[in-house]
Amino acid sequence: MIAYLERFIHENDSESRPNDDEKDQLPNICHSLDLQGTIDCVATGLAGKDFGGMYTCEPLALIRPASADDVARVVRAAYRSPNLTVAARGNGHSINGQAMSDRGLVMDMRSTEGNHFEVVRMNGETFVDVSGGALWEDVLKRCVLEYKLAPRSWTDYLGLTVGGTLSNAGVSGQAFRFGPQTCNVAELDVVTGEGQLMTCNKNENSELFFGALGGLGQFGIVTRARVVVQSAPDMVRWIRVVYSEFEDFTRDAEWLVTRPEGESFDYVEGFVFVNSVDDPANGWPTVPLDPDQGFDPSRVPRTAGSVLYCLEAALHYQKTDHPSTVDKAVNSLLGRLGFIEDMKFQVDVSYVEFLLRVKHAEESARENGTWDAPHPWLNMFVSKRDVADFDRVVFKRMLKEGVGGPILVYPLLRSKWDDRTSVVLPAEGEIFYLVALLRFTMPCPKAPSAEKLVSQNREIVQFCVKEGLDFKLYLPHYQSEEEWKRHFGSQWSRFVERKASFDPLAILAPGQKIFKRIS
Ligand code: FAD
Repeated sequence: MIAYLERFIHENDSESRPNDDEKDQLPNICHSLDLQGTIDCVATGLAGKDFGGMYTCEPLALIRPASADDVARVVRAAYRSPNLTVAARGNGHSINGQAMSDRGLVMDMRSTEGNHFEVVRMNGETFVDVSGGALWEDVLKRCVLEYKLAPRSWTDYLGLTVGGTLSNAGVSGQAFRFGPQTCNVAELDVVTGEGQLMTCNKNENSELFFGALGGLGQFGIVTRARVVVQSAPDMVRWIRVVYSEFEDFTRDAEWLVTRPEGESFDYVEGFVFVNSVDDPANGWPTVPLDPDQGFDPSRVPRTAGSVLYCLEAALHYQKTDHPSTVDKAVNSLLGRLGFIEDMKFQVDVSYVEFLLRVKHAEESARENGTWDAPHPWLNMFVSKRDVADFDRVVFKRMLKEGVGGPILVYPLLRSKWDDRTSVVLPAEGEIFYLVALLRFTMPCPKAPSAEKLVSQNREIVQFCVKEGLDFKLYLPHYQSEEEWKRHFGSQWSRFVERKASFDPLAILAPGQKIFKRIS
């Protein structure tokens, strides 16, 4: 099998592609690897694309492992070869080809999604063991429906895999309270770059455990995660309030995220929107939570600028709670905030409906064609120290016409993040902001080309660098080692050491373009 695949590699070195005869030998390869799952050298299309829609490549094979043992066998085979690489593919929701392996092997981790689902109670805490290839939306449904339990920390959109978000951080409006998803995991099973299946946690194989969390897939393939869960609420009061001044918006958002547990909302986010009725994707119509609610522009102060700000919050409650108790809790918090008078929208939805809220956006984006068009997204963490400068130049000027989709901006707390993980944060202060430019556009020529939008992203990053803003890219994407070194800063040497320990030949996650495969 190795000899067979190597032949492909050498041919690929001279720009040739596997031919049909060789592909016909697939059953033999499969047999020699002795996988329970499948290997496909023909229909590899899925593995060469991602949500970003800007990169494509042609992998050698798409493997659908059935178990962690299959994953280990494939990695061991690549390890014994002179130049094969292996990319674990979660749900392919990366933007810049991070889950791809050009002329290498791609493992579709979704094929393992049903392998684990077990509630574990230990030392007074409750966890759920799930597969690295499971989608968070399935984890949610099973946890709530079968056990009335739920993970504490989420992403906004749940069509992402456990292994995919744990390789980055996994953030949403609960992270101010519980930290990112990488801080809500007690144990992992990981297949290292030598094809060894290891169980790791903060005491056992801790370097691998912390390395893999936020490790951009560089140290191993996560096949099982033990996720912290809590009792799930029945309902959520979902609220949006509007601000014309960034200073008022940040003051209130920071106040909410620094209140003790039980004295604030359970979810806090925010977004920037265009101060205009004409823009259905970026303007006033994006704010009301219910079609019956109207946005009354006469309430927006005349002094307001090109963009406005929306603080989004949610409070959990049980069906048995008296409505007046919920109203009281919500009103006492809202009463402390300085949003534009009467610019308040709220609805009551089930907890599951709230967590699946982005699914509706997905459905309409699929209908209007923007889901399948390129997504030149930019995600960053910007220090509180510099976020007002960022607003002044980027939100108010560069993005005054919006990005065709949400522009998220909300505060997070450094103390809720574990600096032993591989995630990189801005250098200073307790509070930093997640900024996400979630661009949705029609395919060119109806909208600006992806290149144009990528170049606007580049201008934004260049502005931050030039002005010395304290920031880091989230879901980073760089081409050269120099840039990666700068990204990791003082954590670079630890990252390199972890790579040498757990993936010494640099087989894993080549699409991140951090390390080159060692022959
Ligand atoms: P992939 O794109 O398939 O993989 C990402 C990286 O992880 C690759 O390097 C891959 O090799 C590696 N990888 C995948 N599976 C494993 C595994 N089992 N073990 C080890 N490495 C693995 N992020 C947030 O934090 N919060 C959000 O609210 C949020 N919302 C999003 C909404 C949308 C619509 C999209 C497209 C993305 C969003 N993201 C968000 C970003 C998302 O978390 C990352 O893009 C994530 O990597 C996608 O998960 P995936 O399962 O598709 O991973």
